[in-house]
Amino acid sequence: MLAVIKEKAGQGITVKKIPIPKPKKGEVLVKVIYGSICGTDIGIYDWTPWVAGHLKPPIVIGHEVLGKVIEINDSSVIAIPTPRREKQSQGHKNEIATSPSAPRNDIRVGDLVSSETHIFCGTCYQCKIGNYHVCENVAFYGYGGNGGFAEYATVNIRTTWKNDLRISKEAMVVQEPLGNSVHVITKAHVSGKRVLIVGLGATGLCAAAVAVAYGAREVVAIDPNEYRRNLMQKFEKNVTVQVTLNKDEYNYFVAVCEMSGVAAGFQTCLDAVRIAGKIVVLGIPKQPVPVDVGQYIINKELSIQGIFGRRIWETWYQTQELLTSGKIDLTKLITHTFPLAKFEEAMAIMKKGECGKILLKIG
Ligand SMILES: [Zn+2]
Ligand SMILES: [Zn+2]
Repeated sequence: MLAVIKEKAGQGITVKKIPIPKPKKGEVLVKVIYGSICGTDIGIYDWTPWVAGHLKPPIVIGHEVLGKVIEINDSSVIAIPTPRREKQSQGHKNEIATSPSAPRNDIRVGDLVSSETHIFCGTCYQCKIGNYHVCENVAFYGYGGNGGFAEYATVNIRTTWKNDLRISKEAMVVQEPLGNSVHVITKAHVSGKRVLIVGLGATGLCAAAVAVAYGAREVVAIDPNEYRRNLMQKFEKNVTVQVTLNKDEYNYFVAVCEMSGVAAGFQTCLDAVRIAGKIVVLGIPKQPVPVDVGQYIINKELSIQGIFGRRIWETWYQTQELLTSGKIDLTKLITHTFPLAKFEEAMAIMKKGECGKILLKIG
């Protein structure tokens, strides 16, 4: 089968034929229909420091995938990732172990499924209290281990999401980043409030639209990239787009969402948020960001919340509701589709930034 592979550390990617994988116990085998390229995949291509710390080549990349289940290998056991944070550094192999668990009876051969990216252990303290997405032993689909940019892929049954068939296949594959945005906006408590979205990458675009859907009184989104601002207007017209924060908007927004991952974006959030407001942060800056704690966090009595993925499965149900109700039409965000063999071409457009979501049509 054809697959997109990170073969070794350093710049670049390889598209080549490899054997079809066999599902281990606790995994399903899917025939992949669509993949969707994420900003994280650019980091994998370029081998950024964060990726170098999370990815052990060679692996099949791709975590935003849609596939049809063609085989289930024992749903009565759950594949558990080897703990990433401590045990790997003590010399354990990056293997999948299995343990008995309650069987997953809801997944059937023929189902259209997506994968939650955060593969949780199910046994640590955070998992025990329901915070699966911040599992202490979390592993990552498509960068901690093999993902789904291939004609066939295996998915841990524990993190397999069965899609609602009322949603189009093109929207199904883009649900994972929409989920990040749903989690951000849920934590920002936007209803009736003035909301600012900083940065209009895919998750910023989605966050602005979700803020409108969740009843914000006013939504302003800022991004210096004109293509992104135009795409925002096409996706959700009830959002005001701007290049930067206006002077009269300092101390104005009750809820502010940092979606850009750049230091200047976080400073914009600190300036824009009003006293006793809240900043929710999803964008990951490449370097440490200096903050005037006294002037902003203390004097404004701010709440600052980080977001790490999606709540499992709460966010996925919220996302499903937004899509089946028609409140969000993700297909408006899709600007390009390429066959798997043309991954390099798709990546070149991703890197230029003149695009919305780029799909890989696989099967
Ligand atoms: Zn992603
Ligand atoms: Zn856990």
